[in-house]
Amino acid sequence: MTFEERIGDIRERIACAAEKAGRDPKSVLLVAVTKTRTVQEMLAAVPFAAAIGENRIQEAEKKRKIWPADGPASVLPWRLIGHLQGNKVRKALELFDTVDSLDSIALAERLERVAAEMERTLPVLIEVNMAQEGSKTGIAPEAFGPLLERVRSLPHLHMEGLMTIGPMTDDEASVRRVFAALRDLAEEARKQTGLPLPVLSMGMSGDFEWAIQEGSTMVRIGSALFGPRNYC
Ligand SMILES: *Cc1c(COP(=O)(O)O)cnc(C)c1O
Repeated sequence: MTFEERIGDIRERIACAAEKAGRDPKSVLLVAVTKTRTVQEMLAAVPFAAAIGENRIQEAEKKRKIWPADGPASVLPWRLIGHLQGNKVRKALELFDTVDSLDSIALAERLERVAAEMERTLPVLIEVNMAQEGSKTGIAPEAFGPLLERVRSLPHLHMEGLMTIGPMTDDEASVRRVFAALRDLAEEARKQTGLPLPVLSMGMSGDFEWAIQEGSTMVRIGSALFGPRNYC
């Protein structure tokens, strides 16, 4: 498939899943996940994506250096979707518009300190490990409430919503259960805090249609858009 065919296919599948759930397809934003891709490849996705999603600081830094300074690419937000180490917070704030992988109180406090110094507000998503698998990143569901409370008290962080990675299985019911649980957690948090928390970032190449049916407002798609990743 060519890039155009892949993007056409994804857009159709997003629209279809949204319609099935009685939702407006425009309520689902597409984040182009660009780890391992060249800037050349990334630029093809610019007209179709709401944001760029990158996992690693070092990789994002290299790409940012040659990213266009004007035109449509220049205004596309960059979202950090990979785990952020405390010692890379300053760099992360220089490179990214949002941090979608906030997973600890210590990290929230570091982000607050640096954002305050830079006199900017940082939109964040709290990443929750709903699938409870050992290797996955994100905070445990039980620790979500206290982290949310802390983030609310930090004036330079703006809490936009929640993020999760679905479980590594193609069993529809188990995957959807995880996405539904994130949606319920967000709903409960809205009730308790009065915050709008509009963003639910869930769904990747293998499970985005199920995520949309469970209320996802932001799908993070890499391989279905650019083809299989080659890490070598
Ligand atoms: C790599 C990655 C994605 C995209 O994965 P694909 O299966 O290639 O669509 C989405 N979210 C996160 C956090 C990732 O690391």
